[in-house]
Amino acid sequence: MNNAIRFGYRGASAKIIAAGDRPLKDSDCVFCGECVQACPVGALVEKDVRYQVRPWETEKVRTTCSYCGVGCQINLHVRDNQVVKVSGVDEAPNHGSLCVKGRFGYNFIGSPERLTDPLIKENGEFRKASWDEALDLVAQRLKTIRDTHGGGSIGVLTSARVTNEENYIAHKFTRAVLKTNNIDHCARL
Ligand code: SF4
Ligand code: SF4
Repeated sequence: MNNAIRFGYRGASAKIIAAGDRPLKDSDCVFCGECVQACPVGALVEKDVRYQVRPWETEKVRTTCSYCGVGCQINLHVRDNQVVKVSGVDEAPNHGSLCVKGRFGYNFIGSPERLTDPLIKENGEFRKASWDEALDLVAQRLKTIRDTHGGGSIGVLTSARVTNEENYIAHKFTRAVLKTNNIDHCARL
């Protein structure tokens, strides 16, 4: 659809080119990686995976992409408990296709920079806290705001990256507990 790569030149000079034989980044390529998954001879491979990961070293784990509500089916290729590649599953709704986020946006999973503990800000500095302490603090603060200023002073934003069930719980919590209809979703912003 993007007409990013095509045959260029003629005869013995024929070769695969992008956008007038300029770098791929200057073409209409959206870096979805569809061509990499479709390539039958291994001429196109993921840069991070090439020569570093062999297919027989990985285990495939089927799951659903969590980046948006389309719900594309994906295989996580896992080696030593680390996701090293993602490929599309040839079933509905995506029939093997993935966008750039679903196919290449997996490095965060094993990132050492991920937050693993709740943080509470005190005197301008964050400190680690237990989940019980952090949730108690949030509950107490929300209760104080609701009782002092009314539910209308609180707004809740949910996410396209969580499940329908989690969004449902957020809406129930907002309306029934926080007593406000101020709830919206990042997909509308
Ligand atoms: S990455 Fe996607 S848009 Fe770019 S050439 Fe491959 S299939 Fe086309
Ligand atoms: S691969 Fe792209 S389109 Fe499919 S669910 Fe993930 S983010 Fe959405």
